[in-house]
Amino acid sequence: MDSIAENLEAVRARIAAAGARAGRPVDAVRLLAVSKTYGPAAVRAAAAAGQRRFGENRVQEAAAKIPECPGRLEWHLIGHLQSNKAAAAARLFDWVHSVDSAKLLEALDRQAGEAGRTLQALVQVNVSGERSKSGLAPGEAAAVLALGNRLRNVQVCGLMAIPPLAEDPEKARPFFRKLRELRDRWAAELGLELPELSMGMTHDLDVAIEEGATFVRVGTGIFGAREHPAEGAGEA
Ligand SMILES: *Cc1c(COP(=O)(O)O)cnc(C)c1O
Repeated sequence: MDSIAENLEAVRARIAAAGARAGRPVDAVRLLAVSKTYGPAAVRAAAAAGQRRFGENRVQEAAAKIPECPGRLEWHLIGHLQSNKAAAAARLFDWVHSVDSAKLLEALDRQAGEAGRTLQALVQVNVSGERSKSGLAPGEAAAVLALGNRLRNVQVCGLMAIPPLAEDPEKARPFFRKLRELRDRWAAELGLELPELSMGMTHDLDVAIEEGATFVRVGTGIFGAREHPAEGAGEA
């Protein structure tokens, strides 16, 4: 497990270097360790190396894993969530990055209330228009963000996106930039504070940070290659 500590060190160095290039404050970017497909031992190793924030993409997997992990970690749901799993998600997670409908946002608010918790939420935007990608079309997202003003138990804090997979990380830059510009526009138009941008993964986190990411979601760069990456990328 020493390699997890070393990998974390290397990822933190990349984050610091990208932040410095972009002239951003040292604490502007938070690292999510995406532990999907990895068990509690890997989470414990990362936690022992100082990692506090973890990302999972499936409710069922997280429900089995989280109780086996150290307490006082922060858990972020980053995969598609069906409204009928909102109750479980509201109890397991501190953040949901993948809100993609008004119905889901309202269900999370109701369920967080019943659980006596407050959730932080991000609205996922399909910035590329690819049919295969989840997230709201830009034309639909503003209405869901505006709903955030009326919720009691969920705080809508910003946007999340997954740009198309590309060999060259520079290809993702226009999509990261677009997410930031949409955030700036909606924050002004709706009078909302939307400080968070969840964007960037192992291979393109540097570019995402240069374009304003406040959360980067890093799996393989910390834990190593997943055995079944296609499954790992699936639904919550
Ligand atoms: C798996 C996953 C990641 C992490 O991807 P890596 O390439 O392993 O860093 C980030 N975001 C989402 C939504 C994911 O499903």
